[in-house]
Amino acid sequence: MVTGSFQNHILVFIILALTGCGSRLQSHRDLLIGRPALSLPTPTGDEVQITYLGTNGYLIRSQETSIVVDPFFTRISLGKVIVNGRCSSSPDLVSKYTEVAAFPDKVDAWLVTHSHYDHLMDVPPLQRKYGGKIISSPTGSFLSQAVDPDIKSSDLIAAVPGKSYQVGKTKIRVMTSKHDRVAGFIPIPGLISEPLPNAPSRPKDWKVGAPLAFLIEIAGKRIYVDSGGLPGHLPPVSGVDLAILGVAVGDGQRRFVETVQALKPRYILPSHQDNFFIPLDKGFRFSSISKFPKLKREFEEGDFAGKLILMDYFQTWVLK
Ligand SMILES: [Zn+2]
Repeated sequence: MVTGSFQNHILVFIILALTGCGSRLQSHRDLLIGRPALSLPTPTGDEVQITYLGTNGYLIRSQETSIVVDPFFTRISLGKVIVNGRCSSSPDLVSKYTEVAAFPDKVDAWLVTHSHYDHLMDVPPLQRKYGGKIISSPTGSFLSQAVDPDIKSSDLIAAVPGKSYQVGKTKIRVMTSKHDRVAGFIPIPGLISEPLPNAPSRPKDWKVGAPLAFLIEIAGKRIYVDSGGLPGHLPPVSGVDLAILGVAVGDGQRRFVETVQALKPRYILPSHQDNFFIPLDKGFRFSSISKFPKLKREFEEGDFAGKLILMDYFQTWVLK
């Protein structure tokens, strides 16, 4: 049941924020892959590099194409989210972390799984700096345009699930997805279907829109990415090299094993597990509701052929 009451939003974020003594990645050292982003040369040949940007953010690049998924450098404290306080992308943090992540000079496409602030808020200023198409739901396009009215309409792609978009030599297939319910409903629900009179300025302005998943076919590799999902809603693709699966809360966690079963990935990277209310420079801390040890156990019991992996902030891994 979807309700829009502010009290419920508070409840959601209080639940999300029960970070306790959020554990670090070091207790799963055997699964960690990657090296500091700045230590790697740019990709050559058919190499594909994946850099983790925190939350559900990834830089995926080949020699020819650079794609960014859900970048979020301007963290917002829990207190500010609870009071729905004013928030906007921080130019200083964007500039600091794009450097740490060794961003290329230009980006070809920004893929937005849904339009909540932790997936879209930093995208319009990043697009202004690095160029590229913003591939999002129509809600994401209207929000982006409200932030940056100068953005070219040809750079805003209101993606249609089922369709594929060509970005250089990279093909991006868009699929419909689901947002996890939290305490029984979708946080910050709603669609935006017309231009907005004002730029979004508070967490609740970033309405979810229609959630999307993406299959990125880049330099001979197939990478599936989403930011969560509901049990029973399985991706319509199989046989991928890497599956990046959002497991922030209960629904995404409950569908994890069945989604791995459907996708048959060579590598599985559970995503959106960190406490995204604290600044990135505090380092990766699991959110107390991330339940990674349970996911890992269920994965091991499933006896899958693929390899479970984890990444720390601003580490880059070469997908071979
Ligand atoms: Zn969300």
